[in-house]
Amino acid sequence: MEFIIFDLEWNSVKKPDDGKFINEIIEIGAVLLNEQLQETDSFSALIRPSISEKLNSYVKSLTHIQEEQLKNQPDFLTVIQTFKRWANRKNCVFLSWSNTDLHVLAENYDCFLHQHKVDFIRQYADLQKYVSLFLKTENNNQVALGAAAEQLGVDTRQFALHRALDDSRLCAALLRQTYQKKRFKPYISNVLAGTFYERLLFKPYYITDPDSPLLDKKIFMPRCPQCGKKLQRTGKIRQNNALLQANYRCEKCDAAYRLRVKCKKTYDTIDIKRNLALRRPKAVVSEQPGDAVGS
Ligand SMILES: [Zn+2]
Repeated sequence: MEFIIFDLEWNSVKKPDDGKFINEIIEIGAVLLNEQLQETDSFSALIRPSISEKLNSYVKSLTHIQEEQLKNQPDFLTVIQTFKRWANRKNCVFLSWSNTDLHVLAENYDCFLHQHKVDFIRQYADLQKYVSLFLKTENNNQVALGAAAEQLGVDTRQFALHRALDDSRLCAALLRQTYQKKRFKPYISNVLAGTFYERLLFKPYYITDPDSPLLDKKIFMPRCPQCGKKLQRTGKIRQNNALLQANYRCEKCDAAYRLRVKCKKTYDTIDIKRNLALRRPKAVVSEQPGDAVGS
C-alpha cells in the first residue's frame, strides 16, 4: 500500500452564474509515500483561477501567494489532469488534514467538470481524525495542523506553513510519528462506494418550520422544572432566526417560561438543543392565559 497526502490552497469567491460561494483552488501539493512512509515523489502546482483573479487579502497573507504569480499558470482543468495522471495508482490511500480539502476538491470538480465524485480517489482517510487519537484535545475540537505538530514534537520550522506542498510534507511527518497499521486501518473509507460523497457534501441546516414532518411534536411539550407538570403553551411556536420559540406557563406554580429550540439537520441525524428559561415576573403580570405573547 502507498499513501498520497495532498493539500490545497483556495480563494473563496462568488460564482457569477448563481451567486453562490465556492472555494476556488489555486494550489495543489502532494507527496507520495511508500509502505515505509518514505517520500518517493512529490507534486506541486499553482493554478490560474478562472472565476476571480483577485485573491482575498486573507488568502494572500496566509499563503504569501500573489495574484501576479498565478497569471501565467495553467487552469484547474489542466492541472487536475496532470495531478490525476500523477496520482492514479493502484492500492493507494489518499489523505488530507481534515476532509475539508476533499470537500473543496469535490466542489471544484463539480464546478469545472460537472461531476462531484473525484474519480481517481478510491480510498481516503482523514488524517486529522486519525492523528487526534494521539492528541490531548478538548471537546473533540478540530486541531490545526501546526498545533498538532507542536503536541507531537514535530519541528515545523523547516516547513512553509499554509503552502500546499509543505503542508503535505508536515502531514507526512505527523503520519510517520503516529502510524500504527492496525489503528489506522479503520480510518480508510472506500469513497466511490455507498453514500460517502452524499455525506461529505451534505450541508447541515436549521429546521425553522414548526410544522416540519422531521420534528417530533414532543419537543414543544416541556414540563415545569419546579413541579414536573406539563406546561401550557400560551402562544404560537414562532421562528426567531435559526431558533423556534414559544411561551408557556405553569398554573400550579404561577410561572411563565420561554422555550427556545434549535433543530439542526445533519445527513443522518436531527440535533435538538432546547433551552427553557423562566420569564421575568413583569411579563407574567401583563400576560393573559391563552393569548399570544409578544417578546
Ligand atoms: Zn409547575
